[in-house]
Amino acid sequence: MQQSGYVAFSRPQKVLVLTAHEQPKAHFAPIWQGLPQWPYVRKELLAAQRFEPHERLPVKKTYSFTGDLKIYETCPRQYQFFREYDFTPSRSAVIFFGLLVHQSIEEVHRIALDGRLHTLDEPRIRELFERTFRFLCLSDVRPIGDRAKESAFTQVVNYFRQNREEMHRIIETEVDVSLEKDDYILAGKVDLLLGGDGKLELLDFKTSPRPKHSPALIAAYERQLCTYAHILERRHGRHVDRLLLYWTSEARKEDALMTLPYRPERVDEAGRHFDATVGRIRAGEFAVTTPPEAAICRECDLRTLCRAEGVIGEVGESEALAA
Ligand code: SF4
Repeated sequence: MQQSGYVAFSRPQKVLVLTAHEQPKAHFAPIWQGLPQWPYVRKELLAAQRFEPHERLPVKKTYSFTGDLKIYETCPRQYQFFREYDFTPSRSAVIFFGLLVHQSIEEVHRIALDGRLHTLDEPRIRELFERTFRFLCLSDVRPIGDRAKESAFTQVVNYFRQNREEMHRIIETEVDVSLEKDDYILAGKVDLLLGGDGKLELLDFKTSPRPKHSPALIAAYERQLCTYAHILERRHGRHVDRLLLYWTSEARKEDALMTLPYRPERVDEAGRHFDATVGRIRAGEFAVTTPPEAAICRECDLRTLCRAEGVIGEVGESEALAA
């Protein structure tokens, strides 16, 4: 049996049954009355059907590039506590800050995409920013203080001032680039697609400062963006020319904008890397073999536990210990 309300979620293969607990609205009468009615349908329609049970396929679990793989790659133990056990990190202010900058910039992009870029100026951006702030305050995330709020606003305005011209080239924002693998789904979103001059550029925002000496981190972003580019190419037949990262906490655009090469030959290797990471997550491999940078441990809620167990050294005074 299939009720009309579920049609959006599962398509009937043979028979769609519409039921109602009261007389349907007059508006729908022509559709409703034109259909075969119960109980006559029983003989004519149902008797003619052959129903066979379907094999039940297990639902594939979804892993997000940023919410799962990135956390695991930063530290498996953080993944275990904050994703597997679902503890809430106390540093929710950092999350709030990131969301505030990200969503405010996203609002600016949507207005530009609607062809209303000329309506934007700093007072208008302040309004958008304050509205985003109010919405976020309604969520579970703990809000930030006034100083951090102003710093978030500065990031948004800096971005707007220095990239106004680029906004004419926006093609799409928040583009879904999820990928179905054999036994799981990789979920991802591209923040911004830029074009306009015959070239297609893919841009991702980071609200942290541009890393100075973190080749492993940059390699991880490169893997992620190459995979996004590959999905876009395959799904939409669009060739991606450039991969860009924008570090919004850098005041000058020259420092904020980072270009990464798109090397399609890296896509297979990235795919194998993601498979291996998901495999380790599924196998429950959460032991820390090489601690992350000391700065990450210093900010982590689990540092006392890790220190007591000898996983890391005296964080803040000396570097994290390699196990
Ligand atoms: S303190 Fe460091 S090693 Fe321990 S869980 Fe946190 S990030 Fe990982």
